[in-house]
Amino acid sequence: MDFEQEIARRRTFGIISHPDAGKTTLTEKLLLFGGAIQEAGAVKNNKIKKSATSDFMEIERQRGISVATSVLAFLYNDKKINILDTPGHKDFAEDTFRTLTAVDSVIVVIDVAKGVEEQTEKLVEVCRMRSIPMIVFINKLDREGKDAFDLLDEVEQKLGLSVTPLSFPIGMGYDFKGIYNIYEKNINLFSGNSKQNIEETIAFDDIESTELEGIIGENSAQELRDNLELATGVYPEFDKEAYLEGAQQPVFFGSALNNFGVRELLDCFVDIAPSPRPKKAEERLVASNEKDFSGFVFKIHANMDPKHRDRLAFIKIVSGTFERNKPYLHVRLDKKLKFSSPNAFFAEKKEIVDISYPGDIVGLHDTGNFKIGDTLTSGEKLSYTGIPSFSPEHFRYINNADPMKAKQLYKGIDQLMDEGVAQLFTLELNGRKIIGTVGALQYEVIQYRLEHEYGAKCSYENFPAHKACWVEPMEENEEFKEFKRVKQKFLAKDKRGQLVFLADSAFSLQMTQQKYPTVRLRFTSEPT
Ligand code: GDP
Repeated sequence: MDFEQEIARRRTFGIISHPDAGKTTLTEKLLLFGGAIQEAGAVKNNKIKKSATSDFMEIERQRGISVATSVLAFLYNDKKINILDTPGHKDFAEDTFRTLTAVDSVIVVIDVAKGVEEQTEKLVEVCRMRSIPMIVFINKLDREGKDAFDLLDEVEQKLGLSVTPLSFPIGMGYDFKGIYNIYEKNINLFSGNSKQNIEETIAFDDIESTELEGIIGENSAQELRDNLELATGVYPEFDKEAYLEGAQQPVFFGSALNNFGVRELLDCFVDIAPSPRPKKAEERLVASNEKDFSGFVFKIHANMDPKHRDRLAFIKIVSGTFERNKPYLHVRLDKKLKFSSPNAFFAEKKEIVDISYPGDIVGLHDTGNFKIGDTLTSGEKLSYTGIPSFSPEHFRYINNADPMKAKQLYKGIDQLMDEGVAQLFTLELNGRKIIGTVGALQYEVIQYRLEHEYGAKCSYENFPAHKACWVEPMEENEEFKEFKRVKQKFLAKDKRGQLVFLADSAFSLQMTQQKYPTVRLRFTSEPT
């Protein structure tokens, strides 16, 4: 297979959903189709339950699982599929946002009974802003839920999408009979005990044929015909170009748990989902079929073994091939590095690979060279953009609780921030350090890891901030000088030295914006 074919057969995507909608179950069924696992139950749920927030061992265990499920790769119809894990728990939303910079498309899972939930809204918004192609999977059709048309409406309104159904349910819950696949024009009957089976479908391209009555009964046949007529009247025809541009989102219905409607989703997905897309670097747009290698770090994960302070940096390959033992330029450090054991990921194992292609993820052992967002290339000075930090929602001072271990503490904080566990802000006024996180759970993770991995102890103290706003660089005019003088107590630098205004309330933020209209404030570290 040549280079271009290798690129064309790759599909790198993420599944996003609100917790409990069925992401893990769907992932598992997809792997089952790929033959990557033999039975259900093999994929661990990478979920942190509320009750476990104070259970450190649970956090450790979960961290182990999330390494194992960071990338799940399998082959299906000769396509190489890479699923990137996106934690659903809101305390890990930032991790998910960063992972979304490395996917070429996404599948959005929605629970038929619950409809569009909060976390789905946030994640879809990020995908929409970046025009990432999305397919929607409405799950749990074996249960009573909302009416299909109401749900499609809800998806359009709450998520701001333009949908078109590619399959349509026949009944629901107790009456669920199956699915008509609009994309392939066939019917798949639901038997309810197909949890692990791969069901046969009945080809059915003429929905008006009276044979339909024989298959699903009179009432259901008429209802299906009416629904399809309405659906084709209301929704536009599927347009692959529009999907690829992020302007239209096809919708499938099914039940992941019953492995129902999943093959239809997968077949359509491998057919229409994009192979690795070009990526914007600060310098230029880089096409995946360029011969020279380039890639970027979107995730860093500490290793489980506390004796080896080794980390795994996850690189998404954007262009060219990544080869073992070849020197590559680490652009930020302006240093050539070689990797003797790059890891590739297959289902739940990882193994050393000699060559990887655009769309693939390689895991590189790292002893502290990498930060999230770093770029590696064959030699060109490229910096990939678009790995923003979002404003944290919790802020606390971090204090050293063991004066003998100050060095360890700062080293630990530094490395944990490189991993993207949380964000560090240093107050301009007095140099005190503030940790900002998306969820309270991170403070426990940080404290635990500082102690167990670095031998350092910390304590926290509340810092009354509401939001971190990045101040766009601007010239030193009178307004800017006054802003800096008046707001002195609330100004800090982030890890990259960018100026940040820590607003203490929504009200004070609004007042500040009114008073200093030329000072531009952003809620992410980079324009998204
Ligand atoms: P995640 O949090 O999005 O990864 O959700 P899970 O895959 O862990 O699923 C949450 C719960 O919903 C589990 O108890 C699943 O067994 C259940 N579930 C998933 N898919 C279906 C489905 O199609 N039908 C029904 N009835 N339950 C499902």
